[in-house]
Amino acid sequence: MNISTILDMAAEAFGDRIGVVSGGQRYTYAELREAAWRAARRFKASGAAYVALLDVNSPAAPVALFGAAYAGIPYVPLNYRLTPAEINKLLARVAPAVLVTSADFSGRIEKRADIEVIDRAAFLALPEGGDELPQPAEDPRAIAVQLFTSGTTGEPKAAILRHENLMSYIVGTVEFAAAEEDDAIVVTVPPYHIAGISAVLSSTYACRRMVQMENFEAAAWLDACRENSVSNAFLVPTMLQRIVDHLVDSGTQPNLPALRALAYGGGKMPLSTIAKAMQLFPTVDFTNAYGLTETSSTIAVLGPDDHRAAAASSDPAVQRRLASVGKPGAVEIEIRDESGKVLGPEEAGLVFVRGPQVSGEYLSLGSQLDADGWFPTKDRGYLDAEGYLFLDGRADDVIVRGGENISPGEIEDVLLGHPAVADVAVVAMPDEQWGEGVAAAVVLKAGASASVAELQELVKNKLRSSRVPQAIVFKDALPYNELGKVLRRIIRQEFVQKAA
Ligand code: ATP
Repeated sequence: MNISTILDMAAEAFGDRIGVVSGGQRYTYAELREAAWRAARRFKASGAAYVALLDVNSPAAPVALFGAAYAGIPYVPLNYRLTPAEINKLLARVAPAVLVTSADFSGRIEKRADIEVIDRAAFLALPEGGDELPQPAEDPRAIAVQLFTSGTTGEPKAAILRHENLMSYIVGTVEFAAAEEDDAIVVTVPPYHIAGISAVLSSTYACRRMVQMENFEAAAWLDACRENSVSNAFLVPTMLQRIVDHLVDSGTQPNLPALRALAYGGGKMPLSTIAKAMQLFPTVDFTNAYGLTETSSTIAVLGPDDHRAAAASSDPAVQRRLASVGKPGAVEIEIRDESGKVLGPEEAGLVFVRGPQVSGEYLSLGSQLDADGWFPTKDRGYLDAEGYLFLDGRADDVIVRGGENISPGEIEDVLLGHPAVADVAVVAMPDEQWGEGVAAAVVLKAGASASVAELQELVKNKLRSSRVPQAIVFKDALPYNELGKVLRRIIRQEFVQKAA
């Protein structure tokens, strides 16, 4: 019940296999474990309460993650896209004794006597530091990782993931040594996000080669997949969208014969994007993965068979499964109304999750699990009669217009159906009569045009009149975070200012 076991198992079963490829660097699983041991000795010697990483994907990410686990010290990877002020605020909150970073970011850190900054290259070339093998913490409740949530809905919260949570997730969802000798996964998600942690743990447990990319760019991703014979990939929706756009705009085929499986998640995938992607990659197995930081990553999946069935079926009930996030994995999922009553199939409410991979715990705030171990996800949705989970946006994004709950998703889907609309976000705006009203920020396709009245008419024809946006602004682009989540609070702020 210590995540270092994952690296031990890979190093013992396939020590000679390449574990990480990053730029020109390659590490076998045996080399990764040696580097993690060196890191562990160094971390331990510092007497650290926390160790942190502020860097893009590089071999230092798995080495620091596993090194901290061997040393029994919580690991805190930080978001390098934050402003220097935000980074320094988090550093002051965590005060890691050791911070691993690179020249790109070290200039953004305020010097502090209590934080020792180690450069990435020096970290990867640490001296042995003694023969003694680190003895990983036995306590399954020890903290493995502390992650700051994306802050999509407010200030980042420090989510605590214990060894038992992450191990339950890995053992419950990944088969040990499942990878073939030549399998490789390309990792484009950053090391500070749960998807980045999950990528390292799951590919190590599967004994798969991990090909790291520092930044995502569609053409570079296709090249990296081709050059490294990548078999597996995980993408957030905007990344898949950009790959589809790149292929369509350049009129080229992906030409990735080794690619077998493509998983996506982290946010809502537009149906048109996944349908296009399935046409462009007809032989690839697609999986939609729904997960949260607080649940150690994936809790529900829509697998390849469901994707194929949805694409091939003429039955609307089967087709619409493509809009779901599939069925619960190694957890239980339940839908409840505002009063806590458990709802039945097809009834929409709040999504609750329970299982050993669910931590639901934050630094300062403590555990958010109820007495029976259920965690409120803040997502709205429903289960259908067959147990498929359909998400309907986040509870915080619901627009409450005169007591009526309006989910932005249904209005966004209608507006996206207009041929001129490239992107849209529907948010609440202040309204004197109803408390909150419906507003939309719309991005038009290059060279296309649509009027406010025309878009309002479209919604009026498809949905109830309360859904018609009373204000629509046209934008060049919507604000997104680096994982492709639209930042509604920024858009909402604009309508608040306009209304004032
Ligand atoms: P914060 O809690 O700080 O606002 P965040 O919720 O964006 O940040 P994450 O843990 O990264 O932090 O995101 C989890 C959320 O992402 C889920 O609650 C859900 O809303 C969304 N999500 C994840 N996977 C999927 C998916 N496959 N389909 C639709 N939405 C998804």
